[in-house]
Amino acid sequence: MRIMKMQSKFLDVFLESLEKFGSLYGPVRRNGVLRFEKLEKISDLEISDEVPMIPLKKLFHPMKFTMLQFDERGFSPDYSVIERRVIIGVHPCDIHGLLRLDEIFMGKPADPYYTGLRENSSIIGFSCMPSKSSLCKSTDTDMIEEGFDLFFVNLEEFYLVWVGSSRGYDMIREREEFFEENVSHEDIDRYVEWREKRNAKFEQKIDFNNMPDLMELSYNSEIWNYFAGKCLSCGQCTMVCPTCNCYTVTDVFDVTNEAKGKRNRMWDSCMFVDYSLVAGGHNFRGTRQDRLKLWYTHKLKSFGHEYGRPGCVGCGRCVETCPVDINVITVSTALTTREVPKQ
Ligand code: SF4
Ligand code: SF4
Repeated sequence: MRIMKMQSKFLDVFLESLEKFGSLYGPVRRNGVLRFEKLEKISDLEISDEVPMIPLKKLFHPMKFTMLQFDERGFSPDYSVIERRVIIGVHPCDIHGLLRLDEIFMGKPADPYYTGLRENSSIIGFSCMPSKSSLCKSTDTDMIEEGFDLFFVNLEEFYLVWVGSSRGYDMIREREEFFEENVSHEDIDRYVEWREKRNAKFEQKIDFNNMPDLMELSYNSEIWNYFAGKCLSCGQCTMVCPTCNCYTVTDVFDVTNEAKGKRNRMWDSCMFVDYSLVAGGHNFRGTRQDRLKLWYTHKLKSFGHEYGRPGCVGCGRCVETCPVDINVITVSTALTTREVPKQ
């Protein structure tokens, strides 16, 4: 992989030139909340250490869209959700989240909507400093070596730019006068200093290697009564987690012709009471405790068994979002110490 250097003053002009590769998307602040959106102008882009509230998954696994139209003769897929895009300002944890979703949606059989969005999107990653909730050092997702076209490490007056794909090279060729091939010893020193400074800022540490065994051993532990007594079943933890991917489908019929209609797909949450409700009225996970155990078994144990890496990419969003402090830190601490937080 090639690494080049670009002076910071060229950034906006370079990013604007990427419009040739698709519509520009990135973090934008609306009503005080940072979110991934289509950019109306490059000055709307807010690249910062903060992660957008809803992760990058929303651009590949949309919250709600129409999958197909049907009538008496059959159905026709609706791929209108797919467009060519360049997504700017993506942190390493969100790129790792996307690589996890690739395993789920692009295995056999592949999801054509996710695959279409993935193949038509370019990813421009940016480095960040950890927040007090960041766990990505513990999940080994604080840096990224694949899954992007370009990745910018911010060293203040200049960026080091990792080129991760042939499309990334094409992007650089658009404005090659901005990029320097030679990275000096002083530049490398600056990069090493930046990494050391960043490493020292992590406040959270979890030993994820122990979690599969502790989840298994603690399945009937009292700690789950404590967390279940607090959980509101609101589903926010699943909405903000970059690796949660459950959805449901609903057929919407035309009022004038009941053989005609469309099939919509929308996010679902295993924290919702009716998630495991089946025909006949039986609910496999009717209690909050069962649903919490399902979520944490998936994040801390079974995803790793299936794909070789934990289902947590350490973004810290569940820590920031859960209104009653149930998150990967409080749960893994309780699993490790067998003690629940003091009230
Ligand atoms: S764990 Fe927290 S965020 Fe998740 S459903 Fe329960 S209350 Fe909501
Ligand atoms: S479990 Fe929490 S910290 Fe881990 S990826 Fe999901 S939201 Fe982020």
